[in-house]
Amino acid sequence: MENSPSILTGSNIVKTYPAKTGNGALTVLNDCTIRIDSGAIVSVVGPSGSGKSTLLHVLGGLDRPDSGEILWNSKSIYDLKSEELADFRNRQLGFVFQFHHLLPEFSALENVLMPALIAGKEIKPSEERAMELLNRFGIPGRAEHRPTELSGGEQQRVSMARALMNNPSLILADEPTGNLDDANTEIVLEYLFELREKDGVSILLITHEKDIAGRCDQTYELNKGKLNPLN
Ligand code: ADP
Repeated sequence: MENSPSILTGSNIVKTYPAKTGNGALTVLNDCTIRIDSGAIVSVVGPSGSGKSTLLHVLGGLDRPDSGEILWNSKSIYDLKSEELADFRNRQLGFVFQFHHLLPEFSALENVLMPALIAGKEIKPSEERAMELLNRFGIPGRAEHRPTELSGGEQQRVSMARALMNNPSLILADEPTGNLDDANTEIVLEYLFELREKDGVSILLITHEKDIAGRCDQTYELNKGKLNPLN
């Protein structure tokens, strides 16, 4: 995809965690460079503990690198003031985590609505969109249920609906199927791939499963601090 515009590029990223007693500092990302083209699904594979989540947090504006640059449509995201960065994350990015991080005291519908409320959008049309999303992910009957009343697969579909609420351009998914059985893994992956087809959303997918990575447009492998393209 050499000629496609990049939506997000991380260049020469270095991230080191400080030394804890008895241990040296840990350089998790050592001069890592990654490019996500507009409309592409890019995966990052690597063993557990290799730094995949750290990379996703750095790329998603959640954790500042020690050095290197993250460019969103050619603008450096860590040059933004902290409230501008939060606003950028809220409007442009959708996060899906392995442990969905749904708010336990709110219903599925309220969880999906949350990003719209944070963005100060009107409630009525936002509720309609939230219901449409629950419908799209096949769980309209679960709108009033709290997360603990939902199966793992349903919880993950709610978190995908929440990630989509504000029409993000990029979804950052960290092992979104890591906790699911095979049937639910397939459902969640099909929905993710459909987002790219139907909505033109770009996706960064962190996974340790190479067969899932093989279905993506591009795959990088993270190992011993180094990120290398596999195809
Ligand atoms: P992965 O997602 O590939 O399993 P992580 O990014 O979660 O890897 O972690 C990479 C390494 O960095 C691990 O050794 C982990 O213990 C360490 N690590 C992650 N977060 C922190 C932190 N906040 N402070 C110190 N070490 C951390």
